[in-house]
This record gives sequence, structure tokens and C-alpha cells, in this order.
Amino acid sequence: MEFLFLLATIGLILGLKFMGDPVRAVLGNAVAAISVVVALIGVAITSYEPAAGAGTFNILLLAGLLAAGTIIGRLLAVRVPMTGMPQLVAMLNGFGGLAAVIIALIEGLAHPIGDDMRTTGGLLLLSAVFGGVAFTGSLVAHSKLEGKKLPKARRGHIVAARALLWAMVALFALYMLAPVPVIPFTTVLLLMAVISLVFGALFTLPIGGADMPVLICFLVALHGLVALLAGMFFQDTVMLIGGVLVGATGILLTLQMSKAMNRTLRSVLAGVIKRDTGGSEREQDIRPISAAETASLLAFSRQVAIIPGYGMAVSQAQGTCQEMQTALERMGATVHYIIHPVAGRMPGHMNVLLAEANVAYESILSMEDVNDVMGRYDAVLVIGANDVVNPAAETDADSSIYGMPIIRAYAAKQVVVLKRGMATGYSGEMNLLFDRANCRLLFGDARSSLRTIIDELKRI
Ligand code: NDP
Repeated sequence: MEFLFLLATIGLILGLKFMGDPVRAVLGNAVAAISVVVALIGVAITSYEPAAGAGTFNILLLAGLLAAGTIIGRLLAVRVPMTGMPQLVAMLNGFGGLAAVIIALIEGLAHPIGDDMRTTGGLLLLSAVFGGVAFTGSLVAHSKLEGKKLPKARRGHIVAARALLWAMVALFALYMLAPVPVIPFTTVLLLMAVISLVFGALFTLPIGGADMPVLICFLVALHGLVALLAGMFFQDTVMLIGGVLVGATGILLTLQMSKAMNRTLRSVLAGVIKRDTGGSEREQDIRPISAAETASLLAFSRQVAIIPGYGMAVSQAQGTCQEMQTALERMGATVHYIIHPVAGRMPGHMNVLLAEANVAYESILSMEDVNDVMGRYDAVLVIGANDVVNPAAETDADSSIYGMPIIRAYAAKQVVVLKRGMATGYSGEMNLLFDRANCRLLFGDARSSLRTIIDELKRI
């Protein structure tokens, strides 16, 4: 049996490794999924003890749940649009957290945790706390990504969240360190579960705008941590290793995202109350451009850069964009894609879209590679990106994205922004790029605009 668990563990690690490479990502996903099934078969065999009451019914239950999960997962994968993936990931994280709270409550309330079992009790408390925070935190993150109206974050929310955090630390320390139990374990468990659920929502509410990507990675890390604690509690090696992998990946991603946003993790998690500056009401000096004019600009450009953003995912324009790239390369231009680490609505969002459209990896550059040499581009096409090219991040100290590194599209010779109207990006900040003399706006859905550009290019 240990062999099956070892096989599953190796499969999970390999799957994760493959997922890091766009060419082998689909294979990685399949390897990881098969590994989980192998681990479940191992669990079914090891837990088959008819004499102890764990007989055929348990196996049937496991098989039924696995089948139900497969069907639901398949339906979600097919039905949820690409733009809904971040919300789906947030929900999946949340359900992982909820499962941890339920397991901790069942284990803690149904089986007596003796005074001499404080490590076990401590594990259950931590499981309930991290699971609770992951659950309600993910629900709030989901609503924010969906653009739902939530109560306005106030200073009181931050103060209350800190008070609850200290209450949980105090309860945990009291349980672990008091020579004789002061409060019964079950009461501590229930109290901490409830506090963590309230804390998760309160702590997430003031985190928003440009800090959302960091929050999402942090929730992934919490989810991993919860699986790790469950693995320790049940002494289940596969669960433990799965938890370590997800937790470590989440933590690394959180740190990387904080770095990309030029923020410390502490300042992100502390929350920010956005000041109402009223600045976004100002009229902007906009110069529209037609698809035909954009095509002639591109046709006479030798160096072209494409900056994709969330709007490209909304319009599913990646394939058409790749077609335009091919057309321009045939005309002798060099085309680069420049990706901002937080473009889109989930880490790696743009990389996934471009891989889907078979864009060659070599033509994708990162922001750091090009920001100092943006002047070399004759034309930059910003496709459905907004916040990640907003110069307010460099010049407006009142802006909620101030300090976030941006792709300096403004430094190119000519910039054309493809968007449908004058809506702001996720942060809600006015884009100061649109006022620049070298910037013009091509209004319309990104995919149809690109299609017209390709048709016009063919006529040139
Ligand atoms: P933004 O959200 O800043 O802007 C998207 C732009 O796309 C809008 O200006 C919108 O304008 C335009 N758009 C929408 N639909 C279409 C369409 N069909 N055709 C053409 N344009 C369209 O996107 P960015 O990628 O620049 O920035 C990402 C933002 O999301 C950052 O603030 C980041 O912090 C945040 N975020 C990122 C996460 C991540 O992990 N990557 C997670 C959570 C938040 P219009 O409606 O006028 O067309």
C-alpha cells in the first residue's frame, strides 16, 4: 500500500513540475489528477476493515463522492468561462477551508481530546482557524472579483479584525500553555472556529484594488496549510505532501506578487482604506483612432509590442491577436508581448491565454526586460489592459495603485489602447495614459477591432 502512496506523491510532484511549462501543462494537470485517484484507491484499501464497521459501504461512499466530484468538476470546467476562473479558484479555496472547519469540529466534538493530547488539540484548533479564515476570506474575495457590492471598508473593520486576531492568539496560547485546562477544549474549538469565520471576512474586506492578486495567493497558501495540518492530524503522508506543495507554492506566489506590486506582505494584509479623492471625475482629453488608421500605423512599424490585459480575456481575443502577430511578422515587423505579473484576474492569466493561442514563448517578455527600452517600440498595442499601464502608479501619490510597477507603454513612440468605452480598470482609477499626446484609443470589443485591423492589413 505504501507503494501506491509513494506513486501518488511522486505523481503530484511531477504534475506540479509539468504545470510550470506551458507545453506540458495539460499533461501536468492529468498526472496530478491521476495521482489523486491513486491516493484515493490507497485510502479505500487501507481503510477497508469490515470487522471495525468500515466495510463495503465506505468504499461505495468514496466511489460515489469521487464520481460526483468528477461530474461537478467536469461541468464547471466546461461551463465556467475563462473570465470566471479566478472566482472559481476562490470558491474552491473557500470550500477547502470549509471542509477543514467541518473536519476539525467533527473530530474535536465527537472524540474526546484528553488533557494529555494538547498537540492533537492544537492541530485541530489551527485547522479550524486557517480553514475558517480561508472560507470566509475566499467568499469575500469571490464577491470582489465578481464586482458585487460589499459594505464599504472602514477603519473599524481593521480594528475589529485585529482584536479578533489577538483573541484567537490568546485562546490558543491559553489552551496550549496553561498547566491545567482553564476552558474546556470543545468550547475553545467552537469559539475559535466562530471567531476565525468572522475574522476572515473582516480582514479581507479592506484589501482590494491593486492588492487583490496578493490576497488570492495568500488564500491559496492558507488552503495548502489546512491540508498540511489535516495530513499531520490523520498521519496521512499524501495529504501532508499535497498540503506542503500547495502551501509552499502559495507562499512563494504571495511573496512574488507582493514584490511585483512593490508592497510588503505585511502592508497588504494590514488593509488599506481608500481615500475618496474625487479625482476620477475629471474629463480626459481623448484622441480616438480607427481600425484602418491603426492598421497603417502597424504596417509601417518595425518594432511592435502588445500589452494584454483583462479585456483580452473578456473578449477572448488571444487567437485573433496571434493571427495579427503572424500578419505583422510576414510584413517584416518584430512583435513582442509584454506581460505584467498582475495583468488579468489571476496569477499567470495572460500566460495561459497566450499559451492557448500557441504564441511562441520566445516572443513573450516580462515588464522588467523592456521597461527601460520602451522607446525602441514604434507602436504599442494595449489590448484590454488598463491598470497595468496607468502612469498614475508613478505620478499620483493619491492613487490606490501608487507605487505599483507598471509597463511604461507611455514611453513608446505611439500607443493604441483597445477598449470598449471609458470604463476604468479593476482599481477604479482614471488612466492618465489616455491624456498623453502619443496615445490614441480604438473603441470596440478587442476581438472585433483586431479582426478589422487584420482585414485592413491585408489590403495594405
Ligand atoms: P484592468 O482591469 O485594469 O482593465 C481591463 C480593461 O479591459 C478595462 O479598461 C476595460 O475597459 C477593458 N475591456 C473589458 N472588456 C473588454 C473587451 N471585450 N474588449 C476590449 N476591452 C475590454 O486590467 P489589467 O489587466 O490592466 O489589470 C488587472 C487588474 O486586476 C489590476 O488592478 C490587478 O491588481 C487586478 N487583479 C489582478 C489579479 C491577478 O491575480 N492578476 C487578481 C485580482 C485583481 P472597457 O470596459 O471600457 O472596455
